[in-house]
Amino acid sequence: MQRPTRPPYAADPLRSRGRRLAEPAAPTRSEFQRDRDRIIHSTAFRRLVYKTQVFMNHEGDLFRTRLTHSLEVAQLGRSIARSLGLDEDLVEAVALAHDLGHTPFGHAGQDVLDDCMQAHGGFEHNLQSLRVVDHLEQRYPDFDGLNLCFETREGILKHCSRRNAELLEAMEPGGVATRFLHGGQPSLEAQLCNLADEVAYNAHDVDDGVRSGLIELEQLLDVELVREHWRAALDAHPQLTGRRLLFETIRRMLSAQVYDIIDATRAALDEARPDSPDAVRGADKPLLRFSADMRAKSTALKRFLFANLYRHPQVQATRTRAEQVLRDLFAAYAADSTQLPADFAARENRERACADYIAGMTDRFAIREHTRLTGKTLF
Ligand code: MG
Repeated sequence: MQRPTRPPYAADPLRSRGRRLAEPAAPTRSEFQRDRDRIIHSTAFRRLVYKTQVFMNHEGDLFRTRLTHSLEVAQLGRSIARSLGLDEDLVEAVALAHDLGHTPFGHAGQDVLDDCMQAHGGFEHNLQSLRVVDHLEQRYPDFDGLNLCFETREGILKHCSRRNAELLEAMEPGGVATRFLHGGQPSLEAQLCNLADEVAYNAHDVDDGVRSGLIELEQLLDVELVREHWRAALDAHPQLTGRRLLFETIRRMLSAQVYDIIDATRAALDEARPDSPDAVRGADKPLLRFSADMRAKSTALKRFLFANLYRHPQVQATRTRAEQVLRDLFAAYAADSTQLPADFAARENRERACADYIAGMTDRFAIREHTRLTGKTLF
């Protein structure tokens, strides 16, 4: 196969560490393309359309969902990857899969399930994303899960507690959890998805926050990253107002962050000169990065959104009801496993079966199940 030159630090599908169960190569697709395709065809991927990012699906048709968020992460990731010579297919695969383990109702769901599972190993959404692709999808005749490549799984497991890393390591020595025990970085492609995630949600939560009326553009002008691009947008287009001004501000913010990542990462690569993906993994910190200046600006925007949007009384009120729904669901299934689908009810570890079943639900399915099991309608 004729290939464009690949920089030595980029992941290479021909040198993948492979799948847990070996499979013959696909005739026309690289191993990472194949992973991306398996993710898109998975059931968990389709559920993302009805899972909350910040606003619930029924609150408005234009707000981001986990699906559109994941697509935006993939878009940002691919455009940076192409410029740096990284493997775009791997970036896309990780970006599309990174939130597969998210519960219904966003972070509220993760916290409730973790609480319900305290005596049974806890619940972490990153680890759950890996569980989805390793175990929970049931589509293939010869294995559970999607049997993805090491590099894709490595990127999906973005964070992991020490306790869970030890459990994973015991099952898969030297595998995707090793770096959480002994230090080290994931591939540049995985590092990129991590940063593209932050760039994407900072930008789209500004848009959704203003659209929802929960934050005002005037408040946002306290945030340097927004203010500087709002000014630049107005300098270039003095007639701009309203939503077009906001869109142009966000567009400029996104471009500035993308170029910043490309420049800062090129500089870091020039200095470290990693001669293989494993040299990237051995670095003491991520080589894919913002400049120090952009890191500070992005963090300031994140703090603003936390204080003014994610902690907004209206978002909190929804969150409280969502927590109740999930707590009630967990209690109902744990008390009576006949309420679970047969394949979940048959599993030995009932609590984990409850957590897996609930984590897989869409917001609206969770609400329907809650009404069916409790007779209450909280939404
Ligand atoms: Mg995300």
